[in-house]
Amino acid sequence: MKHAEKETEFDFVIVGSGLGGLACGYILASEGYSVVILEKNHQIGGHLQVYSRDKTIFDTGVHYVGSLNEGENLYQFFKYFQILDKLKLKKLDESKFDVVRFTDGKEYNYAQGYEGFMQSLITDFPEEQEAIEVYCKKIKEVCSKFPLYNLRVSGDSYQLDEELLKLNAHEYIASLTTNFRLQNVLAGSNLLYAGVKEMTPFYVHALILNSYLSGAYKFVNGGSQIAILMSREIRALGGKILKHKKVVSANFNDEGCITEVVMENGEKIKGKQFISNVHPAVSIDIFGENHFLNVYKNRIKGLPNSISTFLVHLSFHENTFEYLNYNIYQHHIEDVWGGIEYDEDTWPQTYFVCTPYMSRNQKYAESMSIMTYMKSSETDPWANSFKTVSEPGERDISYQQFKKEKEAKVLKRIEEVFPGITEKIKSVHSASPLTFRDYIGNRDGALYGVLKNSNSPARSQINTKTRIPNLHLTGQNISMHGILGVTVSAFVTCFAFVDKNKLVQKVINA
Ligand SMILES: Cc1cc2nc3c(=O)[nH]c(=O)nc-3n(C[C@H](O)[C@H](O)[C@H](O)COP(=O)(O)OP(=O)(O)OC[C@H]3O[C@@H](n4cnc5c(N)ncnc54)[C@H](O)[C@@H]3O)c2cc1C
Repeated sequence: MKHAEKETEFDFVIVGSGLGGLACGYILASEGYSVVILEKNHQIGGHLQVYSRDKTIFDTGVHYVGSLNEGENLYQFFKYFQILDKLKLKKLDESKFDVVRFTDGKEYNYAQGYEGFMQSLITDFPEEQEAIEVYCKKIKEVCSKFPLYNLRVSGDSYQLDEELLKLNAHEYIASLTTNFRLQNVLAGSNLLYAGVKEMTPFYVHALILNSYLSGAYKFVNGGSQIAILMSREIRALGGKILKHKKVVSANFNDEGCITEVVMENGEKIKGKQFISNVHPAVSIDIFGENHFLNVYKNRIKGLPNSISTFLVHLSFHENTFEYLNYNIYQHHIEDVWGGIEYDEDTWPQTYFVCTPYMSRNQKYAESMSIMTYMKSSETDPWANSFKTVSEPGERDISYQQFKKEKEAKVLKRIEEVFPGITEKIKSVHSASPLTFRDYIGNRDGALYGVLKNSNSPARSQINTKTRIPNLHLTGQNISMHGILGVTVSAFVTCFAFVDKNKLVQKVINA
């Protein structure tokens, strides 16, 4: 009996419309279940949300994606979701999709595809050919151990391979070569996973790099199109997506199963199964601490999150700054793992730069996004304030001053990279850890959720199943963050309800 008997009781109630919630919604609705997705915000998509200033669209949490070459994993997943042919994509430069740049002005290009990637690096480091080849071989070997990333349901399971999970990214790279610059070029895009020298596992580095080598693309006119297209497909399958529905608690039956979730305004929505797309520590609060074992609660709540971000958006005077069909990872220090441990005087030491691609002007950039690290403690003085479009609060003037000071520091840095850029800038906007905290609903505006740790891999692994029999988890904290990681997590969540072999076959056949 798949369809709910009463319209008010859904087979699946999904809390949060981030990509994980939407992907679960699509999978389950296409299997014939009745699904409702509840979103607290005015806009769906979580990190896929965009905002507009000066008639320019700014992305908040997606700048580029990988694995979109024909037949690659995300290409197949998007095909399965029926959105691939509708997405407006711009492929980044084959010969340099990312540029790792240092203070001395030296630039190192990451080319797409393993051959191009290796050749480009070997040109820069001819004496390091062997190390570069061994590195690429290792990336491929590690990625082959993750079945779903290879559209398989079984095989060598990474969950069994303790040694692989314990391999530290920095240590492994440093073991390949004594050439310090090459070590730092190989780890140069570690902002993609907020890399911490002593903690980040090599598999995180490998899965993400492999993905971008398999087709790196930007979303034309912003990444919110993923959420918009997926929501259309979900609705076409009969699924519901409701905005302005902040879930604050749940009611249970005598067997300890959830019967309904309760919204902030007191409204209730009944369901048989519940999936939470919000941070697991927040999920524990929503569904009630007393329903979880202390050991689980303490572990989940004690897991360190990745650092937060300060995201600066510049809009340019018309036709003044040429569009860049690549991203830049700029390091003002030699050790690329050091930027996350910044001190306030030298901040920002590491940042990501990209120019969004707009269909109406393909030669010149309308805007630029600069993403750098920021500890959430920097915004502690305003931690008691709250502000989103659906819950418009106020933050006092000192917060605006704080942001302006930080923006000025970022602009001073970016002027070093692009001399003369300042006079091309029409306006500057920024998002702080508080922006991410309030819009996403986590505690500290963490960039990518729970931090993976090569020293204790099991601790940061979070099961999709919980002690509450009909509560499951999904989203970036489950297997990996990022568009690909979250999509994979959604499939893992849905394997509890749908035959996994058949489901993966549907993706392969899509
Ligand atoms: C600055 C930044 C840049 C990034 N760039 C990239 C990139 O270029 N490429 C890439 O692949 N990845 C990127 N990522 C990562 C990627 O965006 C995320 O990993 C991914 O989108 C997270 O999806 P999710 O399903 O976990 O849900 P989230 O996006 O975290 O969404 C959770 C949703 O739950 C909702 N919610 C929370 N609490 C409640 C509640 N009580 N009731 C109802 N709803 C609630 C929130 O409003 C939100 O919509 C970036 C992230 C950041 C922060």
